[in-house]
Amino acid sequence: MIVLGLETSCDETGVALYHVEHGLLGHVLHSQISLHSEYGGVVPELASRDHIRRVLPLIKTLLGQTQISLKAISAIAYTQGPGLAGALLTGASIGASLAYALGIPALAVHHLEGHLLSPLLSRPAPTFPFVALLVSGGHTQLMLVEGVGRYQLLGETVDDAAGEAFDKTAKLLGLGYPGGQRLEEIARTGQPGKFRLPRPMLHSGDLNFSFSGLKTAVALLIEQHKEDSESYADIALAFEEAVTDVLVTKSAASLTMTGLQRLVVAGGVGANARLRQKLLQRIQADGTTVFFPELVFCTDNGAMIALAGALRLQYAQSLPKCNGSFSVKARWPLDEIME
Ligand code: ATP
Ligand code: MG
Ligand code: FE
Repeated sequence: MIVLGLETSCDETGVALYHVEHGLLGHVLHSQISLHSEYGGVVPELASRDHIRRVLPLIKTLLGQTQISLKAISAIAYTQGPGLAGALLTGASIGASLAYALGIPALAVHHLEGHLLSPLLSRPAPTFPFVALLVSGGHTQLMLVEGVGRYQLLGETVDDAAGEAFDKTAKLLGLGYPGGQRLEEIARTGQPGKFRLPRPMLHSGDLNFSFSGLKTAVALLIEQHKEDSESYADIALAFEEAVTDVLVTKSAASLTMTGLQRLVVAGGVGANARLRQKLLQRIQADGTTVFFPELVFCTDNGAMIALAGALRLQYAQSLPKCNGSFSVKARWPLDEIME
């Protein structure tokens, strides 16, 4: 059985084919970063229009690359939410229409479930149960993943997401949007220890996070050094050290709390090399294994949606054919899909 996956929740158009037994057959991605960068953030209307332009040509490209015909597809999975309503509607309407025309089921996937399961795309894949550190542009959560559809929230940010803090800091440093990756690049040339920023909630005794105070602290520091652009790399490094210290400490605490020895990292901030290095040094050392998705599967992609759909298909006894109707959920708490 082959599942076609469509991801259009934000500013990436992702399309993928996943074979229930043989794994990922192929995936293609179009990023809208250059479309939005001059506005300093994602412009929802531009995002939807671009998804409309991209989805069908990307599906054609993928079918060509993999030599798979539309007739060989057993189901279509699309991101139903959460995300930008107009952007979600693009993938949902194309996914449901195509499924209806082909007489196959359409699977509405939760975007965060896609991120949580994305480490299963890599080899070796982690086995259940594991703790997932989900660090994306909109979320920062520690989640206990016991199986498909069995997720338990252990802790989350009480304000900004880690990726959001990276993006806002990068913007203040004049690095453009989304600036997480650029911030990481300039931090590499920073002088360690020149500045020290707070590590919010490090000793809060729970698994929650807070990044808005850190953002204010870094904004003040940048303001104090605005004439001195040479210190920007040092500030970027101090910021990256503070965020990653908190993420690593809380991840370690989540493993102690659950007694589990497998941690998986998902979401765009999971691409950060300093985070990866610290997790390996501090957590892997305790006999625990840390799993990282490939960089391309950390940020939004169609493969994780196709995978989530394929796992649903595998566990379901039988699924109804799509009747052509669809809906999207701009806001959608993950616990609503838990078994
Ligand atoms: P969500 O899934 O919560 O709706 P999203 O899909 O927009 O959010 P992702 O695509 O998973 O989030 O990740 C994007 C985020 O990852 C951005 O905030 C970006 O700055 C950050 N990011 C990407 N690469 C890096 C990096 N190397 N270091 C730090 N942050 C990074
Ligand atoms: Mg994105
Ligand atoms: Fe995402």
